[in-house]
Amino acid sequence: MTANIAAAKAALSHLDIEQSESAIKSKSRDFFWYSPVLKTRLDHVTADFVVSPRNEAEVIEVLKACYAHDVPVTTRGAGTGNYGQAMPLAGGCVMHLHHMSAVKEVHPGRVIVEPGCLLKDLDAACKEHSGQEIRMFSSTWATATIGGFIAGGSGGVGSCTWGSLRDLGNIIRLRVVTMEEEPRVLEFRGEELARVSHAYGTNGIITEIEMPLAPAYDWVELFVAFDAFTPAMEFAEDLANQDGILIKLATVFEAPISHAYFQRVKPYVSEGSHVVALMVAPQSMDGFDTFTARRPEARVIYRSDDNDWERNPGRVFEYGWNHTTLRALKVDPSITYLQVRYGYPQHRALIEKIRSELSPEVLQHLEVLRENGKVMFAGLSLVKFTTEERLDEIVRIHEEAGAMIFNPHRYTLEEGGRQTVDDRQLRFKKEADPKGLLNPGKMISWDDPDWSYAQMYAYPKLQAAE
Ligand code: FAD
Repeated sequence: MTANIAAAKAALSHLDIEQSESAIKSKSRDFFWYSPVLKTRLDHVTADFVVSPRNEAEVIEVLKACYAHDVPVTTRGAGTGNYGQAMPLAGGCVMHLHHMSAVKEVHPGRVIVEPGCLLKDLDAACKEHSGQEIRMFSSTWATATIGGFIAGGSGGVGSCTWGSLRDLGNIIRLRVVTMEEEPRVLEFRGEELARVSHAYGTNGIITEIEMPLAPAYDWVELFVAFDAFTPAMEFAEDLANQDGILIKLATVFEAPISHAYFQRVKPYVSEGSHVVALMVAPQSMDGFDTFTARRPEARVIYRSDDNDWERNPGRVFEYGWNHTTLRALKVDPSITYLQVRYGYPQHRALIEKIRSELSPEVLQHLEVLRENGKVMFAGLSLVKFTTEERLDEIVRIHEEAGAMIFNPHRYTLEEGGRQTVDDRQLRFKKEADPKGLLNPGKMISWDDPDWSYAQMYAYPKLQAAE
């Protein structure tokens, strides 16, 4: 099977095709460079062409033409994924969905939207329409799309209350186009959603999304400082467990993260300060003040509705989730990170164990997460990178202690997830992408069902560096 790029391009020449070489190169990249491991392997990857369909009919045209000419198609939302998810490992076509950004309908409790809509634009439209907002969003709210969040993300701001995207009820419906000689348009709800959500666009293209909504608030954003780590961690968890206080974010930064990497917070903390970042609903602030007054070790150093800081720190959620790593990287390029699940009920004990073994080489950055009604932590720990071997050893230390790692230094679905085949996604790929043209190289179980995961998967058809 050899791709006939020229024929596919010619068949699509009436669509919006990117002509500039430099734009093609930049639209072939995402935030893969976050990982020193992926940076060395994927830096050269580029598409042969980029096409931007304006509607579902044009998506179908792109898929049909590329199917006919055996051209791989990698879908792009905004390219903020940080595992190389949106990168065309085997070249071919990048299908950029930025034109498909309409908010189609807003109803009480739900919205219907096209995939290329930015998360911030979606929130603005829902707020203006009826004072509503999406339940959760990636901390890349200002730049990422709703389609990319569903296909490539997992959860984020709001997950302390609502859980993750994969939890039942957090996506209502997805409309999906298949990659076949005659592409089909399918509608998924319930169990079927798992086929394509968080599948990196390897088995279908999402063209319409129905999401649940919550009431929108002018969230009060806060930083709270502590002299010791354990009370900071307990504060965040206990606050999330207060049934009557509504929060959208609770993040813990071990010292000296805030002092070392958050320039605008630095004047208000010492090197030894452990900091909790929060979003609290305005009507919950009385409850929050009472909760905080009971803990003399907590010092509120910033609240967005009342402060005298010389420089506005910006949105507090842009310090959390993967933004913590971004801020640290800007100050110290040798910093990288790991994604850890500290599962209930061992979460606190596990975190203390890992801290005692690995701090300060690994610094704890924790996000409060709700899973099956239980409050626990996701870790996006900052790691001082030395070698790939040491990084692998740090992963092993976590796993031996009982903490699950989602390895962000891998570009496949399985290695970035639970290192197991998702049968529902694989079965759907066989049906929906029989030639294996959608985002190739990202699903190991498609390429090599017997892969052992003992070492990093290397996609055999990865574009060669020049
Ligand atoms: P892209 O990067 O363009 O695409 C992501 C994946 O989805 C790719 O595999 C792509 O092929 C596929 N895809 C895109 N659109 C479609 C579609 N319509 N149909 C099928 N497949 C599609 N992630 C989180 O979950 N939570 C966070 O809080 C978070 N914070 C981040 C912070 C920073 C600073 C960075 C760099 C990344 C962060 N991420 C986070 C990862 C990423 O930003 C999010 O997953 C984001 O929502 C991806 O959106 P995007 O539009 O950029 O998608």
